[in-house]
Amino acid sequence: MSNPNYGVWRPIAENVEFNALESNSLAVMAVAETVRTTLGPKGLDKLLIDQAMNRHVSNDGVTILLSLRAIHPVARMIVEIAERQEQLVGDGTTTAVVMASEMIKEGKRLIKELGVHPTKVVEGIENGVKQACKLLEKDAKKISLKDKELEQIIKTSLNSKLDGSKLSTLVIKSIRTVGENSIYDGSFDFDKSIKVIRKTNVSDMVFNGVVLERRRLDIEMPIKVTKPKIMIVKLDLKPVKESWLKENNRYEEILTMENDRLSKSKKIVDEIVSTGANTLLIASPEIDEIIENLLVSKKIYGIRISSDEIEFLSRYLGIKPVRMLDDLKGDKIVGTADNVYENEDEGLTYIENGSGKQIVSIIVSGSTKETSLERWRSAIDGVNAAEAALNKGIVAGGGAAELHVIDKLKNLRLRGLEQVGVEVVASALESIMRQILTNAGFNGLEKVMAAKASNQNIGIDIDTGDLVDMCEKGVIDPLLVKILALEAAGEISKSVLRIDRNLAAEDLSPQAVSETKR
Ligand code: ADP
Ligand code: MG
Repeated sequence: MSNPNYGVWRPIAENVEFNALESNSLAVMAVAETVRTTLGPKGLDKLLIDQAMNRHVSNDGVTILLSLRAIHPVARMIVEIAERQEQLVGDGTTTAVVMASEMIKEGKRLIKELGVHPTKVVEGIENGVKQACKLLEKDAKKISLKDKELEQIIKTSLNSKLDGSKLSTLVIKSIRTVGENSIYDGSFDFDKSIKVIRKTNVSDMVFNGVVLERRRLDIEMPIKVTKPKIMIVKLDLKPVKESWLKENNRYEEILTMENDRLSKSKKIVDEIVSTGANTLLIASPEIDEIIENLLVSKKIYGIRISSDEIEFLSRYLGIKPVRMLDDLKGDKIVGTADNVYENEDEGLTYIENGSGKQIVSIIVSGSTKETSLERWRSAIDGVNAAEAALNKGIVAGGGAAELHVIDKLKNLRLRGLEQVGVEVVASALESIMRQILTNAGFNGLEKVMAAKASNQNIGIDIDTGDLVDMCEKGVIDPLLVKILALEAAGEISKSVLRIDRNLAAEDLSPQAVSETKR
């Protein structure tokens, strides 16, 4: 077999027909094994050690998956899908991986033991996932900002996290503060209105405004400006480049250039100051020392920002960044706020109550860089869970929503081999509650059977092992997280079950190349 672009492909294992599915599903199981025990509030943490021997404790599915090095190509695929899940909703990655491994285990059994053709299994899974998602959607309940469910959803999502309850207080506070101001195009988009930043050795807090991890350009600049007039500067603040000076060694030329540098710098600063701006957020790559000194002498407050920060700062202040000197004549280039100030101990700059759209910042701390990183990720997860819940509704948590879909799915009375897919999806749906309970020290299977025989929303209390209504107990999940996790699991298992051979590209040896060309 040859490929014009990549040379010659060779089978990875000798006994190809049999081994591809075996080896690929083994790889999936191995990956699933590493995260399975972290699922749910009683899930255990993993100690991650990177190449530099740094230690880091995590309970987060994606973080753990991303830390696995040199893994099987199929396992890498899972990592990618988990990553995508993380980007889409920021939660439910462990759930997706656990369900995927269950689907593959069941799917493989059907193929190997019952001789069902892989394409049939794959079609069945696709259909089963689609039906299960529809059923979950039917069971979902809409919520609004005022509902107690909003708090519960955040608490449930942070339940298994380090310091979860403290973080959920921060997240709830920030969401209630920005509230309706976060609706863009009809749905909530907290990415635009809540910024989460992390810093070691400061206090956790929610600040009604923007916090930048920046110090002012020069300590001679004012440390605080009340009622500042703020401009975002993206001008070239290095009017004469040093390299030009270095290339010239004739005295007169250097002198002309130095004069030019001085007059250009003065012009820039004068034109900026004439707009009334006294606070500059500077995104220029370089700043000439002369310009910096002129700004200091005019008591201007200046900090650097990165290009990435321009967009949200523009929105927060309701202004456009100034890219060219001509822009200074336009309107909407100077915004206001209540205060701009630097906390010198923390090295943070605060902008309070900007003149554009509302933004709230959550500052999460940690005694080490690693804990602040882990807490930072969790806070973002909480915000994402709230957003998903407000936009698409909620379902019972603890694996109950998934479990109670199974009977309905089976009642659809799908014909023939479609029923096969339902079996595969059903076992995945059951696996979530089972795993959460196993992680909590119970006999997962036995408890799941008891819950399954009960009414809608009934699950198991993970502290007592008793049957409870998960919604009444306040254990709820966003519908969107459940649906995306199920779809991701379906996608992983379909790809794995469909592969019947693993081939790897051979080196591009001269012989291989000539063979390819023939
Ligand atoms: P994931 O990476 O999939 O989000 P988590 O470790 O965050 O994994 O676990 C999420 C699961 O834990 C959800 O199914 C959620 O409903 C469940 N869960 C959270 N709190 C509880 C609780 N108190 N009792 C039972 N299940 C819970
Ligand atoms: Mg989670």
